[in-house]
Amino acid sequence: MADLIIPRQILDDIIAHANELTPYECCGLLAGTNGVASHLYRIKNIVAMEGAQNLSSFDSAKVAHLERLSPTERAEIAFVMDMQDFSTAKKDMRNQGLDLQVVYHSHPHDPARPSITDIKIATDYEEIWPKINLPLPAYLLVSLMTPEPDVRTYWIKSGRVTPADVLIR
Ligand SMILES: [Zn+2]
Repeated sequence: MADLIIPRQILDDIIAHANELTPYECCGLLAGTNGVASHLYRIKNIVAMEGAQNLSSFDSAKVAHLERLSPTERAEIAFVMDMQDFSTAKKDMRNQGLDLQVVYHSHPHDPARPSITDIKIATDYEEIWPKINLPLPAYLLVSLMTPEPDVRTYWIKSGRVTPADVLIR
């Protein structure tokens, strides 16, 4: 049995979100019941926003700067979830009786595997999930570095990354 079932429509929504925010990383959450994802919550990436209010105020100089960075430098630019969006999503999950299942984010220029920074942040969060009454989520990465987006899902536990068994249907 798969760890998680993700409907094709939700996967397409994640890829659309990634394409909208590139060259910045998008991030969000998936939630559902009985191991089937049914809800997607887009969360603002405050690293991508850099104080800006919305996507329309991304300035081209900053975008050009991101394009100039080496893959290693870019990989270190992580995502940081906006806490307001996060608590709104958390409240909605509780009201609808949904379980948090996945934290997703995009890698516009890098492969669909967690960066060193991603692993570090996921490891820091491992202690936080139980404190806020949420289960340990799987981490879904979408890479836009190839013409066909590459999507992979992992568990990150105690600094170790292992592939999650996900069925797309
Ligand atoms: Zn990452």
